[in-house]
Amino acid sequence: MKKRIYGQKFGFSTRAVHTGNDVDGETGAIRRPITMANSYALPYDPSEMNWSGADKSLYTRNGGSNQKYLEEKLASLSGGDCVVLASGVAALSGLFFALLKTGDHVVFSSVTYIAVYRLLNELFNHKFNIETTIVDTGDLEAVQAAMRPNTKLVHIETPGNPTLAISDIRAIAEIAHAHGSLLSVDNTFASPYNQRPLELGADFSVESLTKYINGHGDAMGGAVIGKKAHLDMIRTQSQVNLGGVISPFNAWLIMRGSVTLPLRMRRHNENALQIARYLESLSCVRFTAYPGLESHRGHAIAASQMSPGFGGVLAFGLDADHDAHNRFVSHLELITSAVSLGHDESLIVFLGENDERQYLYPPEFHRGFFRFSVGLEDEEDIIADLERALKKTGLR
Ligand SMILES: *Cc1c(COP(=O)(O)O)cnc(C)c1O
Repeated sequence: MKKRIYGQKFGFSTRAVHTGNDVDGETGAIRRPITMANSYALPYDPSEMNWSGADKSLYTRNGGSNQKYLEEKLASLSGGDCVVLASGVAALSGLFFALLKTGDHVVFSSVTYIAVYRLLNELFNHKFNIETTIVDTGDLEAVQAAMRPNTKLVHIETPGNPTLAISDIRAIAEIAHAHGSLLSVDNTFASPYNQRPLELGADFSVESLTKYINGHGDAMGGAVIGKKAHLDMIRTQSQVNLGGVISPFNAWLIMRGSVTLPLRMRRHNENALQIARYLESLSCVRFTAYPGLESHRGHAIAASQMSPGFGGVLAFGLDADHDAHNRFVSHLELITSAVSLGHDESLIVFLGENDERQYLYPPEFHRGFFRFSVGLEDEEDIIADLERALKKTGLR
């Protein structure tokens, strides 16, 4: 039998390759198989089984083998216990649902994935009377001032989608804990390769596996990493009873994609930094936001908590009107206009002036701008594509 690669003894890349994989007991294959089954064989006397339990093989909604293999790996890469769910949003809603109850208060970042805003500020607030305060979590005094005796959770996203705003994980963990609250960090833009929130004092790290961890744009999944007691709650409430379980096939695909996470992230980090520098040098580019640029307002904090790089997503705006932004995109030949991020290919999305949350963003984002997920292509080809489209739009 192969030696199991657990824990933190081996390096990040070694764990990305090995952890969660093993020799298959039945066939001797050196890859664990995909198990497409809804149900698992019951013991001789099943009458004592907990039908809502997640600890025994029973029914795939209570936990499937491919899900468990992926959880082993992500737990090892992120330094905690892990539950994998059907999507990043299933992970976020699963965390909020398990943790919060009527009368609790939540403080969350003004820059977050849109579903966080909908879940907390609209659904949980209106349906369950959970109080919410939206704060620029780049401002520690504002975080401090927002805390109340009933603040159960502080939820931040850093770098934040879509403005790349940076929040100080260590400092906010201290504030949250001083008030008896928990801190969750949406770590999707960084991935555990560049940032591990639990090591910085956070109680939870949330990942959309759909993005960098799978990395190939062909599967959805989400994960919450944290302490076992909390994760057991998420597993029974949000996976077994709300039903946010991941499919075995998606867990298997993400397991496969995640093997190359360190290699891909290194390339994403390098490409994004070079392209951010290129965009920043152009007079037709109104602003470029990337935490790896010295000009970024969160650069020093980002550098203190992200390593070795700053991820593959940046934002920029052209010194041009709304329609010129759309014309620019129509002239791109390599870079694809589509939502999502962290795929192998470069993806760009134009976010216009009508975003209802725009008042929460810094002024440069009040006109239309792009979120650009820099892919794994040759950097010269990406730059050539941008250059050509800018020329065709009449900006260069
Ligand atoms: C995409 C994304 C999510 C949601 O993940 P899904 O897998 O699409 O449900 C959450 N947070 C961030 C920062 C994201 O970019």
